[in-house]
Amino acid sequence: MKFEDLKSVDKNHVANTYGRFDLGLSHGKGARVWDFDGKEYIDLGSGIGVNSLGFADETWIEAVTGQIGKLAHTSNLYYSEPAALVAEKLCQRTGMKKVFFANSGAEANEGAMKTARKYSLDKYGANRYTIVSLLNSFHGRTMATLSATGQDVLHKYFTPFLDGFSYAKANDWADTMDALDDTVCAVMIETIQGEGGVLPLDLSYVSQLQDYCREHDILLLVDEVQTGVGRTGTFLCSSQLGIRPDIVTLAKGLGGGLPIGAILFGEKCEKVLGPSDHGSTFGGNPVSCAGALAVLHKIDDALMEEVTTKGAYVKERLLACKNVESVDGKGLMLGIQLKAECPFTALELVKQSIVHGIIPLTAKDKIRLLPPLIISKEDLEKACDILCAVIDQTI
Ligand code: PLP
Repeated sequence: MKFEDLKSVDKNHVANTYGRFDLGLSHGKGARVWDFDGKEYIDLGSGIGVNSLGFADETWIEAVTGQIGKLAHTSNLYYSEPAALVAEKLCQRTGMKKVFFANSGAEANEGAMKTARKYSLDKYGANRYTIVSLLNSFHGRTMATLSATGQDVLHKYFTPFLDGFSYAKANDWADTMDALDDTVCAVMIETIQGEGGVLPLDLSYVSQLQDYCREHDILLLVDEVQTGVGRTGTFLCSSQLGIRPDIVTLAKGLGGGLPIGAILFGEKCEKVLGPSDHGSTFGGNPVSCAGALAVLHKIDDALMEEVTTKGAYVKERLLACKNVESVDGKGLMLGIQLKAECPFTALELVKQSIVHGIIPLTAKDKIRLLPPLIISKEDLEKACDILCAVIDQTI
């Protein structure tokens, strides 16, 4: 199909919820991807942090296609191997105790919040149900996860939201304390606010929060949908902040391109949900789990070290640009703040970047980079050459 024809079919029939770039992708390999005219690009977005192994990784393809040939779906009425093995691996990697499988980040967060409410109800009875989240956070697009999302701009059309949510200012302990009244059952945070503009939480804030939550038996829910599965140079970003959450949610990079979400329960929460308290028809789908297993096999200490080194390299290169104010984030999750005098917005620069053969993302007013974790040093150097030239308008 020609790109112009595709655009017309898409515009006529696909709901108009996405502001698409003028780019159609045809196929990819590793960190390289080609459009419909055969033009090659270096991918700096991974389908918003999903393609952790890049496009068409051989062992991932083998695992996924092998599983499709055996069993594509079973439902959760029966045992099947891939989900059990992924759960085992996730517990081994994180020290968490049990896993519930969902299909997306929002769904994983929904389940995490349901668990927190039930934990508190079982232990303390009614009236202790409030979930505190942070201003500028992003936890998903369903009604409950939007209720937890601390961004007015996303709340415009969908009132009324769910009861029992309140918000605190990130990295502001006094403001957070004000929100932590005796109706609170859980606090939900992102260790780095991704959609909010790649804004990391302070170590001291997070550790104060963990101490307070432990002391008052308030559950600490950490949404690692974007930061998790090696994106920041450790399997969970929480470990870099020295915290052990009661619940962690994962999605995006876990399936290497297939839809999967996971709720990881720590000691306090492993027995909260029982039969029929929660469920999902597609949750733990064998094909998605086979993809996840291939991803988990690849994410070892050596790759994590590479992610850290590559992230440091990109930071250094970008900080040398005259139009760059700062670079936030960890590992291969980076947000580039432009100087006020830069004549172009992040979105305009991303559009220009695409013309020059690289595909970065935006997050609020920053350029955001979430390249595949396996991107080669050579591709990263070339991508930095182009990105710096675009940002400083020397290309
Ligand atoms: N939580 C975080 C931190 C996210 O970044 C996102 C998506 O960007 C979500 C939740 C929602 O994930 P999904 O789009 O898979 O529902």
